Amino acid sequence: MQQEALCIAFESIVGKQNCITDPEIIKTYLEDWRGIHVGFTPIVLLPNSTQSISQIMKICFDNNIGVTPQGGNTSLCGANIPHSTKDRLEIVINSSKMNQILELDTHNQSLIVQSGCILSTIQTIAEDKGLFFPLSMGAEGSCQIGGNISTNAGGVNVLKYGMIREQIMGLEVVLPDGTVFSDLKGLRKDNTGYDLKQLFIGAEGTLGFITSVCLKLFSQPTSYSSALVAVENPFKALELLKKGKAFFGENLTGFELMSSSCIQAVEKYLPSCKIPLSSLYPWQILIEVGNITTDQNNDERMVVFLEKELETAVITDGIVANSIQERKDFWRIRHAIPEAEKYTGSAIYHDISVPISKIPELIEQSIAELEEYIGKSTVFAFGHVGDGNLHFTKGKPASMDKTSFLNETANVHRIVHEVAVQLGGSFSAEHGIGTKLKNELEHFSDPVKLELLRTIKNSIDPKNIMNPNKLIS
Ligand SMILES: Cc1cc2nc3c(=O)[nH]c(=O)nc-3n(C[C@H](O)[C@H](O)[C@H](O)COP(=O)(O)OP(=O)(O)OC[C@H]3O[C@@H](n4cnc5c(N)ncnc54)[C@H](O)[C@@H]3O)c2cc1C
Repeated sequence: MQQEALCIAFESIVGKQNCITDPEIIKTYLEDWRGIHVGFTPIVLLPNSTQSISQIMKICFDNNIGVTPQGGNTSLCGANIPHSTKDRLEIVINSSKMNQILELDTHNQSLIVQSGCILSTIQTIAEDKGLFFPLSMGAEGSCQIGGNISTNAGGVNVLKYGMIREQIMGLEVVLPDGTVFSDLKGLRKDNTGYDLKQLFIGAEGTLGFITSVCLKLFSQPTSYSSALVAVENPFKALELLKKGKAFFGENLTGFELMSSSCIQAVEKYLPSCKIPLSSLYPWQILIEVGNITTDQNNDERMVVFLEKELETAVITDGIVANSIQERKDFWRIRHAIPEAEKYTGSAIYHDISVPISKIPELIEQSIAELEEYIGKSTVFAFGHVGDGNLHFTKGKPASMDKTSFLNETANVHRIVHEVAVQLGGSFSAEHGIGTKLKNELEHFSDPVKLELLRTIKNSIDPKNIMNPNKLIS
C-alpha cells in the first residue's frame, strides 16, 4: 500500500485531525526526554479507542509496517522513538487521546483506565476517593500509565509498594495482528494458567499495544512525615536505612539518596527550589514515613529517630517538614535533579541496581574506575537507595571536548555496568533497554535468557511489527 493510500485508510479510522503528517508537528514525537535519541516517522496517529487501534494494527500487520507505541515520551533509553527508513515504514501510535476513566470500584479498591491517562491524574482520582495509587516519579505530570506499565516503572515508593508490576490486576492489549487480548479483571486471585499479562509489563511495547488497565489501589496514608538529613558517606546512609526500617517498619515508604553535586545543580539551575540544608554536605537523604493508622504522631516519631541518629553521629544534620508545603518542597528538590542535570552540560547516564548492601561499593568503584579511564569530573549520584537503585551520571572532564567525551559513551557504560553486574546487580534497574542498552543486554545476559526472550517475541510478533529495534527485536 502506498503512503497516501495508507493515510486515507488511517484517517478513516481516527479522523483527519488525528492522523498527523506535518513534519513540523511530527518533530515533537521524535525525541526521548533527554533529546539523546532522535528518530523519524512520516505518520503519527492519535486514536481514542481499542477498536481503532485494533483496526490500525491489522493494516500494519497486513502491510508489514512497524509500529512504535508512544505515551508521554519521557523514556530515558530511546524506547519510544520510531526509526522509519526507506526500506521499512514505521509509524507512531500515541496514546494521548486514550484518556478515559472507565471504572472506579472503591470496595474492590480498583481503577480501570485507558492507557493514555496521565499518572498524576490517576493519583488524584484515587486520592479524591480516599484511596492511594503509589506510583510516583518526577515525570508524573506527563508520563502515561501505558508507558509506565511498558517500562515496569519503579519510582519513589517501591520500598513499600513494589514496582508497578505489583499494582496491576488486569490488562487489555491489542496484539500485532489486531487481535484484542482482554484480561481486564480486577482480581487479586486468578490461577487459571500462565499469567499472560505479565508478559506485556516491562515489554517496552515490543509485544502489543496496551489499551486499558485495571490498577490496584491502596488505603490512603493518613499522615506523612518527611525529613531531609545529611550524612557523611553512603555507608552512613546504609546504616540509617537499616535503623529506619527497624524503627518505622512497614511505614518507611521513601529513602532517596542525593550527592552534593545533585543538590548544588538544583540550587544553581532551578533557583525556585528551596534548599533547606547546606548544599555543601556531601550527601543528603530524603526519608519519608507514611502511616495509615492515626494512633501515632509521625513527626514526633521522626524527631525521636533523628535525634538518636544525630547523637550517634550517623547523621550530621536534619530537618523535618513542618507542613504539607514543606513536604512538597523537599520532594521538588529530589524530582528536579534529572532536569538540573540536563543544564550541567554533557554527561553519560546510568540507571543501575545492586543488593542494597553493595551501594557504597558501587559508588566508590564506579567513580574510581571512571577517573582512571577518562579523568576526574563531576559525578551525580542519586536515587532510590532503599531499593538498591542508583542513577549515576558521569559529567564531562574539563580537559575533554564534548565530542571526544560522548564518543566514549559505550566504554563508560560498560565500565559502570561491569561494576554493577560484578556486585550482583543489573545494568538497567527501572528505565528499561530501549535502543540505548541493546548491546548491554546481549553482552550481560545468560544465552538461555536471550533465547527465551526471542522465542516469546517471535511467537507473539512473528513479523516484528511492534517497536522494532528495541529491547530484543
Ligand atoms: C524526570 C523523569 C523522571 C523519571 N523517573 C523515573 C522513576 O523514578 N522511575 C522509573 O521507573 N522511571 C522514571 N522515568 C522514566 C520512565 O520510563 C518514564 O517516566 C515512564 O514510565 C514512561 O512513560 P511514558 O508515558 O512517558 O512512556 P514513553 O516514554 O512514551 O514510552 C516508554 C516505553 O513504553 C512503550 N509504550 C508507551 N505506551 C505504550 C502502550 N500503550 N502500549 C505499549 N507500549 C507502550 C513505548 O513504546 C516505550 O517503549 C523518569 C523519566 C523522567 C523524564
